[in-house]
Amino acid sequence: MVQEQTYTRVFTLEEAMHQASGHSTKCRFIAGGTDMMVNKFQGNDTTLHFIDITRIKELKGIYVENNYLRIGALSTLDELKHSEVIQKEFPLLLEAAHSVGSPLIRRTATLGGNILCENRCIYFNQSEWWREAVGYCLKCSGNVCIATGGKKACFSEFASDTAPALISMHAQVKLLSTEGERLIPLEDLYSGDGVKPKTIDNSTILAEIRLPLYQNFKYAFKKLRLRESLEFTSLTTAVCLNDHDRLRIVLGGIDPKPIVIDAKRDDDKEELIKTALKKGRAVENDMFSRSYRREMIRVFLTNCFKHIET
Ligand SMILES: Cc1cc2nc3c(=O)[nH]c(=O)nc-3n(C[C@H](O)[C@H](O)[C@H](O)COP(=O)(O)OP(=O)(O)OC[C@H]3O[C@@H](n4cnc5c(N)ncnc54)[C@H](O)[C@@H]3O)c2cc1C
Repeated sequence: MVQEQTYTRVFTLEEAMHQASGHSTKCRFIAGGTDMMVNKFQGNDTTLHFIDITRIKELKGIYVENNYLRIGALSTLDELKHSEVIQKEFPLLLEAAHSVGSPLIRRTATLGGNILCENRCIYFNQSEWWREAVGYCLKCSGNVCIATGGKKACFSEFASDTAPALISMHAQVKLLSTEGERLIPLEDLYSGDGVKPKTIDNSTILAEIRLPLYQNFKYAFKKLRLRESLEFTSLTTAVCLNDHDRLRIVLGGIDPKPIVIDAKRDDDKEELIKTALKKGRAVENDMFSRSYRREMIRVFLTNCFKHIET
């Protein structure tokens, strides 16, 4: 039986939350739609009720407030580059945003949507008949992980490129739900479970991203991909040093959640690389082999550390 699907455009936060709470798990908010619509048409996403939040004014705009920059979740990746504050204080975010998709995608894709885009795996991001032919994996209601040859855990890769950059700069996110408003460190949005990689449910709205201003960040950003444009990550590294000599290393694309390592400027770099290799559970679920991606962790981090010190 074909199930009814609905599309609702909302204009206020209250309306959005009201619509979402009425549909429980089978609804999703649409921002740019560049991630979820692809997943929907490939049959990876079985959402029945779409709530278009693009007209909600409170989710737009970029503002300075005290020592923070507040970026509305609906800001497009392209818009970010027009903000003078972001150009001056957070060029790392611009570099990361620029590495996403293509110019056309960046004009539609939002920062909130990028932070919440779905994890990926070569055994999951395939057509329905392909997934059926190999015998569905854990992420699409199968019984085992095909990439690992039968493990009972899903290792889909964390795909967002802006999130590692934002986390390395200690970003926080403001979340809204029927239970109220809360501010959490961005890294707490991610569960580490490849099947359900976010810690929030589909009826929670990501309202804004906050970044601490005047940190004088030194940074390095690297992304491994098959070609220089229109390609998802196989490994993203963001390394950031603040004015108080706090070093934060964040890796994306090699584990179901971003890997975060906090250190000090003078810490032994070889030990930090070893920690990164230990934490990143890369498996054979990417166009690049596991061993190559692990080797590239070492190469990228070594280059990032050098870059920061020059
Ligand atoms: C060809 C192609 C290449 C791509 N390359 C990259 C790449 O290199 N790097 C990369 O990171 N991504 C890439 N993407 C994925 C996608 O384009 C980006 O992640 C984009 O930033 C998603 O933003 P969006 O606004 O379109 O999100 P949507 O598709 O609208 O939403 C994504 C998810 O976030 C949720 N969501 C969105 N906004 C909110 C909100 N405010 N509150 C609560 N939930 C919300 C949606 O419900 C959905 O689950 C690519 C996509 C395509 C089609």
